[in-house]
Amino acid sequence: MLRINELKLPLDHSEEALPAAILARLAIPAGDLRGFTIHKRSYDARKKSAIVLIYSLDVDVADEAAVLRRLQHDVHLMPSPDMAYQFVADGRALAAHPDFQRPVVIGIGPCGLLAALILAQMGLRPIIVERGKVVRERTVDTFGFWRQRKLNPESNVQFGEGGAGTFSDGKLYSQIKDPKHYGRKVLTEFVKAGAPEEIVYVSKPHIGTFRLVKMVEAMRENIEALGGEYRFESKVTDLDIEETAEGRRVRGITLESGERIATRHVVLAIGHSARDTFEMLHARGVYIEAKPFSIGFRVEHPQSLIDACRFGANAGHPILGAADYKLVHHASNGRAVYSFCMCPGGTVVAAASEPGRVVTNGMSQYSRNERNANSAIVVSISPEVDYPGHPLAGVAFQRDLEEKAFKLGGGSYNAPGQLMGDFVAGRASTEFGAVVPSYKPGITLTDLAQILPEFAVTALREAFPAFDKQIKGYFKHDAVLTGLETRTSSPIRIRRRDDTLQSLNTGGLFPAGEGAGYAGGILSAGVDGIKVAEAVALSLAAQQA
Ligand code: FAD
Repeated sequence: MLRINELKLPLDHSEEALPAAILARLAIPAGDLRGFTIHKRSYDARKKSAIVLIYSLDVDVADEAAVLRRLQHDVHLMPSPDMAYQFVADGRALAAHPDFQRPVVIGIGPCGLLAALILAQMGLRPIIVERGKVVRERTVDTFGFWRQRKLNPESNVQFGEGGAGTFSDGKLYSQIKDPKHYGRKVLTEFVKAGAPEEIVYVSKPHIGTFRLVKMVEAMRENIEALGGEYRFESKVTDLDIEETAEGRRVRGITLESGERIATRHVVLAIGHSARDTFEMLHARGVYIEAKPFSIGFRVEHPQSLIDACRFGANAGHPILGAADYKLVHHASNGRAVYSFCMCPGGTVVAAASEPGRVVTNGMSQYSRNERNANSAIVVSISPEVDYPGHPLAGVAFQRDLEEKAFKLGGGSYNAPGQLMGDFVAGRASTEFGAVVPSYKPGITLTDLAQILPEFAVTALREAFPAFDKQIKGYFKHDAVLTGLETRTSSPIRIRRRDDTLQSLNTGGLFPAGEGAGYAGGILSAGVDGIKVAEAVALSLAAQQA
């Protein structure tokens, strides 16, 4: 197989244009082309009137070696890399050892899901403990909160089967380095579980909320069929750590029910909102440090404005879908302001997991056809400057902001909101304009500057007009800001060793995914899940050697 990169065709090219372009590019007769698959498809929309599709293709030709020899100077032609996933150990042999204890995966978000799947595929029969409910019941609780303001602190947007990304836009791309093609393995497993096949080849795939729910269920069935065991509504409240001559080592976990599970391998995939579990880990002496994250608002514009600005007359084209955007502004006070988790054609959601606090986020359906585009617009903050002195100080910082947002929203889980023009002008808003906000249960119009630190307000006031230079019309008086975004990433890192992926000071504990500070998003969390599953298998193999 040969990989051709950077093969460009116009947006509206015919079906036959693609094989014709391959023949022309390789200068081979039609009979020599046996077949091809699309490896990646992206687009270049810099010239709105002439949007170009860019293909990366795997092609099967009659005489590969001859083509490669003849086109040896073409930097966009090479043998296709082998991207098939290889297991690192013979898990069935490891599981047959008399001293084998099943590994435990805490948390079944994307990180835990992929860790559990790989462990199960290897034959290591993981036990999965999840504080929340099965995804169907969790969906009822989450929608209940949005519609009736009843928050279940153990079953919500953050907690439960599928993790934080279940009610989301389901964006599946990441900028992580991935030399072993683990991202491909994640996407392939998602497709097997019911995701659209295009996710493996489009440059910015997304799934949307309802498909994610079905996928998570299908993956559970697969893991169980392979010998994995799920325990829902089973919060881990303690770790059993022994002191040995070689140092500290996990020998079991305790659930809220009091039940103890003996294990020497614990994948800690608890996400960025498990604040009580962070506290437990800190109390147990697990090495934790504070890390930077960002704070700000969700911003809603009409999707039509973004589409027109990005795609011009091609807005609405089925291949392009609803347009996204990415914005960065370096404010004069030294703070970076940037867009984050942009959801085209989506809705702003209430993402709290603790009573008396308000947090926002965004989601969409696969169709992305809601009227508004939303994105977090956030300001970077760091422990050295903004919350020094304690590994969990970032959590206290988040909680304080989320409480202020709750109070400013009226104490009923309404989020505080403001029109963009009023925020920049420094006056409270009193009525909405043409942009109808999507946040449920509702928004209380106010002056959002009251709840963010002054440096963030200054940076954001500077950024919105500056963004107008990148997207004409972005600085729109009646665009709606909803507060607050506080959980852009984990406020902590549970540091692990680079070689074994085990906690810096606690053997057998594998901090993983977003909560541990090793991922930011569904795909990177899944990739990290694969890495730690491999590390668990290698650790078991080393112990049995
Ligand atoms: P999580 O998904 O947070 O999973 C952690 C799990 O651990 C949870 O199920 C939790 O209940 C469980 N848990 C916690 N503590 C315990 C305990 N003590 N005992 C047992 N179980 C425990 N990312 C994207 O890439 N694309 C998107 O479009 C996107 N949209 C998002 C929209 C929303 C509304 C939200 C909230 C997030 C979104 N994200 C998105 C971010 C993404 O969801 C996270 O990066 C990802 O889910 C992190 O995966 P994780 O497995 O590390 O942690």
